Amino acid sequence: MNFKSLPQLLDYFREESTCIEYYEQIRWNGNVVCPHCNSENPYKTKRGHRCSNKDCKKDFTVKVGTIFENSKIPLRTWFAAIFLATNHKKGISSVQLASDLGITQKTAWFVLHRIREMLKDKAPKMIGTTNMVEIDEAYLGGREKNKHFGKQRSNENPDLRNDGTPYQPKKMVVGFVERGGDIIVKHVARATKEEILPLLGKHVAKGSEVHTDESIIYNKVGRTFTHKTVVHSASQYVVGNCHTNTIENFWSQLKRGINGIYHHVSEKHLERYLDEYANRYNTRKLSSQERFELFLEQSESRLTYNDLVC
Ligand SMILES: [Zn+2]
Repeated sequence: MNFKSLPQLLDYFREESTCIEYYEQIRWNGNVVCPHCNSENPYKTKRGHRCSNKDCKKDFTVKVGTIFENSKIPLRTWFAAIFLATNHKKGISSVQLASDLGITQKTAWFVLHRIREMLKDKAPKMIGTTNMVEIDEAYLGGREKNKHFGKQRSNENPDLRNDGTPYQPKKMVVGFVERGGDIIVKHVARATKEEILPLLGKHVAKGSEVHTDESIIYNKVGRTFTHKTVVHSASQYVVGNCHTNTIENFWSQLKRGINGIYHHVSEKHLERYLDEYANRYNTRKLSSQERFELFLEQSESRLTYNDLVC
């Protein structure tokens, strides 16, 4: 099997049984495990597997305990959705996915959130072990002057918009990127030392060379790291090898995606979107198929519709 494009993927996964066999191989690697009690050696039934542990004896399929659980959509459609969502550089909207796959927008919305659950950063990453690290912050949320009048912040009541709905302040995010390596992006309440430095300690290896702009947020970074700055306010963008261009390129990609494709991202779902973009960036050197397989390996999850909407 080898697929580089969506038609090739759909061609290979024409039968649901092919999808199931393939996914069983990815998830269990030949050693089927009961998702209810973790016991091994279940036996095959017509519709899947049955646990041989006499206290359990439950029936299950490979979808139980994964993002595909309780979904009526065939795996073939899910696989196509994963392929599309992880291959589009700027992401894909639920409207677009619905029309590409012939499903309703509500279903597409749920599918995309479950895919994001799969892309979620599950283990804290450490960067900066080989190369320089760039750090920067950014605000997300479109420009006020580009919004329709009703969506703009009210002059009379700064808590509301002109149409009377609550005003959503811009969301602050901070990113750490190792040049040639991985990125980590986090939502923070405010751009302050107190918020950002602990994250730096958690994700960047001690002694790394760290590049930032001149913001006072970073004035204690030199205590733990080799710290170099560029003074953006003095139109200084690259000094020797010191710059923050890698992270700034990522921000423009992220903003174009979030403002152009998703339009609005609520506080509740923001981390998911950030992880989605970070994951796409971190797998940029993989082929479409390698990326697809890597993500499928991370598809165990129990996110329900209620978790998403409540
Ligand atoms: Zn069991």
